Amino acid sequence: MTKYIFVTGGVVSSLGKGIIAASLGRLFRSRDYSVIIQKFDPYINIDPGTMSPFQHGEVFVTDDGAETDLDLGHYERFTDTSFGQVNNVTSGRIYQEVINKERRGDYLGATVQVIPHITNEIKSKIVAATKQFKPDFHIIEIGGTIGDIESLPFIEAIRQFKSEIGIGNALSVHCTLLPYLPTSGELKTKPSQHSVNVLRSYGIQPEILVCRTSKPIPKTEREKLALFCSVPKDAVIECRDMKSIYEVPLALEAQGMCNVVLKMLGMEERTPKLESWENLVSKIKNPKTSVKVAIAGKYTKLSDAYISVVESLKHAGYADDAAVEIKWINSEECMDYANCKKLLSDVSAVVVPGGFGVRGIEGKLNVIRYARENNLPFLGLCLGMQCAVIEYARNVAGLKGANSKEFDENPTYPVIDLMLEQKNVKGYGGTMRLGAYECHLKKGSVAAKAYGKEVISERHRHRYEVNNEYIDKISDAGLVFSGMSPDGMLAEVVELPNLDWFVACQFHPEFKSRPDKPHPLFKGLIDAALRRK
Ligand code: GLN
Repeated sequence: MTKYIFVTGGVVSSLGKGIIAASLGRLFRSRDYSVIIQKFDPYINIDPGTMSPFQHGEVFVTDDGAETDLDLGHYERFTDTSFGQVNNVTSGRIYQEVINKERRGDYLGATVQVIPHITNEIKSKIVAATKQFKPDFHIIEIGGTIGDIESLPFIEAIRQFKSEIGIGNALSVHCTLLPYLPTSGELKTKPSQHSVNVLRSYGIQPEILVCRTSKPIPKTEREKLALFCSVPKDAVIECRDMKSIYEVPLALEAQGMCNVVLKMLGMEERTPKLESWENLVSKIKNPKTSVKVAIAGKYTKLSDAYISVVESLKHAGYADDAAVEIKWINSEECMDYANCKKLLSDVSAVVVPGGFGVRGIEGKLNVIRYARENNLPFLGLCLGMQCAVIEYARNVAGLKGANSKEFDENPTYPVIDLMLEQKNVKGYGGTMRLGAYECHLKKGSVAAKAYGKEVISERHRHRYEVNNEYIDKISDAGLVFSGMSPDGMLAEVVELPNLDWFVACQFHPEFKSRPDKPHPLFKGLIDAALRRK
């Protein structure tokens, strides 16, 4: 029978609940237990797909084509498991389904209410995910902070769920913050006590407390927290600020958190196999070299907007014992070529990531031109590949005025056009080409050599594609179309094999990189960057 762990947060937002949930997931996996993690987001959007990255950070895409919260990326990277649509549910989705049922007449004349109809729908989403994966442990993270009006139906649903499933089958982990007062030199426990009191007022007594802190928690404060929050002393877990998020599982393990959970849930305590994770962390903490890589995009003020790209670059660095330093370049500042050159002069590689809309495009084209002309290792992702094709068409293949129809309704050469299947699509929510599709790589190509195989599967999120009418012209000029969809209709990878590393793909490899298994395209980029350095 599956055991449930509910993770809530109190005191402040941005506590890193997602990392804590993911880290606990890692500790279960290291004991050969299967685990899934599900995120409930209290906002009304059906999914984050329509939100600006400035609002929400990156939109993470799963194999089954769900546009999800970026925490899903942490869940997948820490547990090395692929999740899907059932793993991320918003209030919007819950309400939409309840309203659809009401319109169909499913409620047989009842007054439809938050309790029981919305809470039942939430509980059914928990059960649906358990049924799909049949895990030993099912971790559920509730977005937001305790006390928010928005998250109340979720909190009420887990209260019901916990009592229905019975003692010993579910527990709550509450994450809080211990602020440090420099004037008195103290870590303060009161906000955590208050937060637990609020949680209790909703009927939930947490079994475990995870406290974010910048300093070690003294014994007296630990005892105070245990006493006032009614949790055992060994269930007060300290979570200090760390250099790398990948250290968190080891810090939790060192305090016996997983064993406390196993004991409370009546599960067998197994010896964890953490050697490879420990090796990873020791590589992260002791790099032998470093390398500076630029990310040239338009959401550079919020690094969360590109979190999977950043993590993928770091993962590739770990494998080479190299610390990757990110230089953020706002593509709008590259509109002027001289400035673009200056900004790129001190980096060993550049990534042009995905994006939408015309703002900053000419700057991205300058970045790619500079990389191509100066043999600066380059990786283009989705929009980054579309820009690489436009740049090559304009500056090498003689198609002056080449552009994407996303940026110009009527370009001289529409080398990037809306996909046929997109022409009649109305509305923006969930309507892109989403999720995993196969791609066939050209034998002997840079991409095929990097992957070590010719058939790959990667995740997508786009509406536009390379216009096949121009492929011959552009490839005659030297750009190699080294990856195509299985029917040969959709360009998926382009490359310039004579350069050290110039590869761009229509898909998003960043969603499949793992800390201990870097993605081949990021590995290729970092290897080339280190050779250059
Ligand atoms: N805007 C481009 C498209 O829709 C690229 C999307 C992306 O980079 N994710 O095709």
